[in-house]
Amino acid sequence: MRSLRLVWIYPDLLSTYGDRGNALVLERRARLRGVPVQVLEVNSDQPVPRDGHIYLMGGGEDLPQTLATRRLQADGGLHEAVRKGAVLFAVCAGYQMLGVEFGGAEDQPVAGLGLLDIRSGRGERRAVGEIVADVDPALQVPRLTGFENHQGVTERGPRARPLARTVLGTGNGDGTEGTYAGRVLGTYLHGPALVRNPGLADLLLSWALGPLPPLPAEAEELSQRLRDERLAAAAAQQPS
Ligand code: GLN
Repeated sequence: MRSLRLVWIYPDLLSTYGDRGNALVLERRARLRGVPVQVLEVNSDQPVPRDGHIYLMGGGEDLPQTLATRRLQADGGLHEAVRKGAVLFAVCAGYQMLGVEFGGAEDQPVAGLGLLDIRSGRGERRAVGEIVADVDPALQVPRLTGFENHQGVTERGPRARPLARTVLGTGNGDGTEGTYAGRVLGTYLHGPALVRNPGLADLLLSWALGPLPPLPAEAEELSQRLRDERLAAAAAQQPS
């Protein structure tokens, strides 16, 4: 690979709560390891390149979420990239869109992209606030911290594994948070997720690049401070 190609899908429709920070963190953590990076921002009126290594999707409101799904389905580029083994990381609306179906603006079912074996509908109340969750030990990623704001609840089928178990917050709505299958990973976490969870960023990078050396401690100082601060704030909210 001459350089790592990151593809940020539809920033014009899907980018709430600073989700763009996820692309910045992947770029920085690859560059610090000497890997040249190209970041491609693809708006919803442009074709999705089929030769990216990592694809990123952010959160969105209900109508842009439905529109983005139709356009990605018609375009076909994301499906082809995933078939060829690209990594896909999707947040909140992006996560729901990867499934078989999600609840649209009037709660009518909308067909999803079918890239993850999940279905999302609308929960009884909106989940808003800090979320903390412990990742599937097979992935060797430290505890997740994030911010969630969604109405959707998500069920998994047999071909998808939960990313994490919730300690605080709602996530999928059944005590789990996020889903992964192969190199496709979705989560409800904003924050942005990869800024608060560099371990998750490195998991995605390692799927694309292979095993990675750790970064020097001084490069991790700011994100460690942010993690400590957010996890302490969440612990203060938890019932003892
Ligand atoms: N519209 C979706 C929901 O409310 C996703 C929201 C989001 O991306 N923040 O469940």
